[in-house]
Amino acid sequence: MMLSTDPFDDDKLKEECGIFGIMGKDSAAAMTALGLHALQHRGQEAAGIVCFDGEHFNAHHARGHVGENFNSDSVVAKLVGNAAIGHTRYPTTGETSLRNIQPLFADFDFGGFSIAHNGNLTNAHTLRRNLVKRGCLFRSTTDTEVIIHLMAIAQAERPLDRLIEALKQVEGAFSLVCLGKDMLIGIRDPHGVRPLVLGRLDTAYVLASETCALDIIGAEFIRDIEPGELVVISQDGLNSFHPFRPVPKKFCIFEYIYFARPDSSLEGLSVYEARRNIGAELAREAPIEADVVVPVPDSGVPAAIGYAAESGIPFDLGIIRNHYVGRTFIQPTDRIRHLGVKLKHNANRRFIDGKRVVLIDDSIVRGTTSTKIVEMIRAAGAKEVHMRISSPPTAHSCFYGIDTPESEKLLAHNYTVEQMCRFIGADSLAFISLNGLYRAVGEKVRNDAEPQYCDACFSGTYPIALTDHTAKDVQPVLSFLSQDE
Ligand code: AMP
Repeated sequence: MMLSTDPFDDDKLKEECGIFGIMGKDSAAAMTALGLHALQHRGQEAAGIVCFDGEHFNAHHARGHVGENFNSDSVVAKLVGNAAIGHTRYPTTGETSLRNIQPLFADFDFGGFSIAHNGNLTNAHTLRRNLVKRGCLFRSTTDTEVIIHLMAIAQAERPLDRLIEALKQVEGAFSLVCLGKDMLIGIRDPHGVRPLVLGRLDTAYVLASETCALDIIGAEFIRDIEPGELVVISQDGLNSFHPFRPVPKKFCIFEYIYFARPDSSLEGLSVYEARRNIGAELAREAPIEADVVVPVPDSGVPAAIGYAAESGIPFDLGIIRNHYVGRTFIQPTDRIRHLGVKLKHNANRRFIDGKRVVLIDDSIVRGTTSTKIVEMIRAAGAKEVHMRISSPPTAHSCFYGIDTPESEKLLAHNYTVEQMCRFIGADSLAFISLNGLYRAVGEKVRNDAEPQYCDACFSGTYPIALTDHTAKDVQPVLSFLSQDE
């Protein structure tokens, strides 16, 4: 058993997640398992499904991949009902205790209610301290649980109004799917930081983080849920509400660069196309004489295709990725991360030897991957190694749902591009500019006064208050048990 001094004892919460919900279809849990399988890239640590059979809620939560835990008929067969929600989770600090695996579920006076959340609440810490002082007993260490307690003490009567009352008090990024006795709810925070799409399968409605989760069950894409929109799906069909004060949209631009799957379309733009466009922009902004363009697989591939097409330099798979490397190898310590990179990638020597290589990756975070890859490409006989990165330098932490280390550990936070180039051992290094990135996603130019996207990890301009982060040092420390169940 471990005693923690604080529920959120880092300078930020670290979670990336995928969410899914369906109502009006037999075998809703099986559909949800498939949807979560398509969203596995958004969280590999744990998964959960809660379903409703008309009388009872049933749930299964497990550590590990969706396929390992929700493939057996025995598990999915127990999850009966025509409505279900699910969640994939990827926390990066501490153990994943069962109690932290979502969807969360609570028995209210009005009945059962379940919530699955993608994003991070930036005032969860502050709210939690106040709720604990008022006598609320938390059972998890997730930021999401504050929503449950705020609903429990809300003044409003109807469950939907209580949810809205709760959500008006939280800050940060939240795409949510919720399941009540007779309704499935989908919500995006007023800025729309994280994605959420709506689909249809026969007469059933489907909600999912990305369109690839609609494809896997053959559902038709209807539209993105709008920023600040709340949809209620019930026997009356679908009703849409806009309960929050409108604010400028701030969709996370990093979803296009790295996080979302390339076969998804978000906010009307294909993720693959965005990445290819970024590669082409990068070729125009940072050209170099070379013999071959090589992606760091898999995330660098679409941008490398764009770079090669624009520059006219041949494209080759000069690095092959081993897909069977478990996540254990890439976390949690830096030492193991180093080992992980070697296990994950191998040079395709014949296509590197004697060549001037342009390497394309999507980002440099701590610099571990780039350093190892450059070393590996040189060892394979490359004459020159030029690194091109399809994002601007990641110089600031994300507090809205993408896992990044504290800013002090980010290479770009501490070094200039020239120093970073020396650090990773490349002959040259260039990143796409912020404006180049905006052009690649269809904007003429970044509106510096009111950026069209959330690009805080590059610009340091945080569109939503970081209440917990700024208040951290002045708040009393809360003691609580954080053990595995
Ligand atoms: P690093 O080795 O720390 O510089 O990390 C850079 C590598 O991590 C790149 O190859 C990216 O594809 C990948 N990456 C970037 N952002 C994330 C993230 N939020 N979670 C996991 N991997 C990431």
